[in-house]
Amino acid sequence: MKIARDTLNFILEVCKSSYPNEFAGMLSADGDVITDVVVVPGTESTDESAVMQLFMLPNIHTVGTVHSHPTGDTRPSGDDLELFDTKGKIHIIVGAPYTISSWTSYDNEGKPVKLQVVDYEFKEDKENW
Ligand code: ZN
Repeated sequence: MKIARDTLNFILEVCKSSYPNEFAGMLSADGDVITDVVVVPGTESTDESAVMQLFMLPNIHTVGTVHSHPTGDTRPSGDDLELFDTKGKIHIIVGAPYTISSWTSYDNEGKPVKLQVVDYEFKEDKENW
C-alpha cells in the first residue's frame, strides 16, 4: 500500500488542529494509493474516544483507519487492535507532535507495515468541462 503525500500532510494538519484531542478518520484509496480521508464527525469531543467513534460507523467501503495519539506513543491500544481487525487492512496511528516522522502504519493484526509515501496526481473532474 502507498499513501499520497498531500493526503498524509492533510492528516498531519488535522491531527495538529485537533490537539489535545484525538482525531479519527477512515481511509479510502484509488487502486493501491490512499488518497482520501473521511473525517469522523464529533471526534473533537473531549469525553469520547476517537476510536469508539470509528467503531460506531457503518461498514462503508474504506481501506482502513487513521487516528491520533496525543500522548505521542504510536503503539496500538487494545481497543485499537479490535478496531484494526474489523475496519479494513491498513491503519495509521499518528503521535504528537504530528510530524512526517511521527506516525506508524499497521496491518489488520496490529503488525507494523511499511506505507510508502508517493507523489500522486489528483485527477481533475473533467465532467464539468
Ligand atoms: Zn489509539
